[in-house]
Amino acid sequence: MATTTPFLDVRGITVRFGGLTAVNNLSFQVAQGTVHALIGPNGAGKSTTFNCISRYYQPTEGAIVLDGVDVSRARPHQMAGMGVARTFQNLELFGELSVYENVLLGCHSHSARGPRALLRRATGETRDLVDSLIERVGLSHDRDTVARELDFGHQKLLELARALALKPRLLLLDEPAAGLRNRDIESLDHLLSDLARRDGITVLLVEHVMQLVMSISDRITVMSFGEKIAEGTPAEIGRNERVIEAYLGK
Ligand code: ADP
Ligand code: MG
Repeated sequence: MATTTPFLDVRGITVRFGGLTAVNNLSFQVAQGTVHALIGPNGAGKSTTFNCISRYYQPTEGAIVLDGVDVSRARPHQMAGMGVARTFQNLELFGELSVYENVLLGCHSHSARGPRALLRRATGETRDLVDSLIERVGLSHDRDTVARELDFGHQKLLELARALALKPRLLLLDEPAAGLRNRDIESLDHLLSDLARRDGITVLLVEHVMQLVMSISDRITVMSFGEKIAEGTPAEIGRNERVIEAYLGK
C-alpha cells in the first residue's frame, strides 16, 4: 500500500555532460509499492536519471533520498545492499551462461567471489528461489538456454529475473517491454503490477510502450529536454496538451 512518505525522493537533480544539461533540476517522488513511469522523447534524460538514482552518475546538483536516507553519495554496490536493483536499456548479461546461471549470479551480486565458485556453492534454497523467479518471468522453457541465444525481449525478461534475485525494495527498469511481442507485454503488465501490489516492491520504469505505461502506472512523470514537463495519473497525462505536443513535436 502507498504511504505518505515517499520511498524514493528525487530532489532537484541536475546532470551536465560538458556543455550539455542532460537533466535539469528534476524532482519527483515515488510512493512505496507503487508503479511510477518516466516517459519522454529520446534524449529527454530518462536513462541519465536512472543512472543517478542507481548512483552510476553523480548529479552536479540535488539529492536522492531513499526511504528517508540521503543516498546522494552512496556507491553503486551500496545501492544494491540497500535494495535497489536495476536493468539496463542495453543488456548486461553473461551471454555464455544459461538463464538459470544468470539468475543465480544475481542472488550474489554483492559478493566478491568468482561466478564459477558461486554456481557450485548455491544452496538448495537459493536454487529454489532461482527457479521460482525464472517461472515468474515466464522463462521456464528456456531455463537451460544460453543467454545469448534468447531474443532481445526474452533477454530483457532474464535481466528482470536477475534483478528480482536481489530481493529489491526498489526496482528500476529501463525499457522492459522493448523487443517484446504483445502477448509477452501482457504478461509483463501482470507481473509488474503484482510485484508492486502484492510484493510491495516500488517500481520505477522508463518505457516507450504506452499501452503498458498507461495500464500499470500509478503516476507518470514526463520529461522533455532534461526537464519535467508534466506529472500525474495516466488519465491526467493522457489529456495533457504539453505532453501531446512534446511527443508529436519530436
Ligand atoms: P533518454 O534515456 O531519455 O533517451 P538519456 O538520458 O540517455 O536520454 O540522454 C540525455 C542526453 O544526455 C542526450 O542528449 C544524451 O546524448 C546525453 N548523454 C547521456 N549520457 C551521456 C554521457 N555519458 N556523456 C555525454 N552525453 C550523454
Ligand atoms: Mg534511455
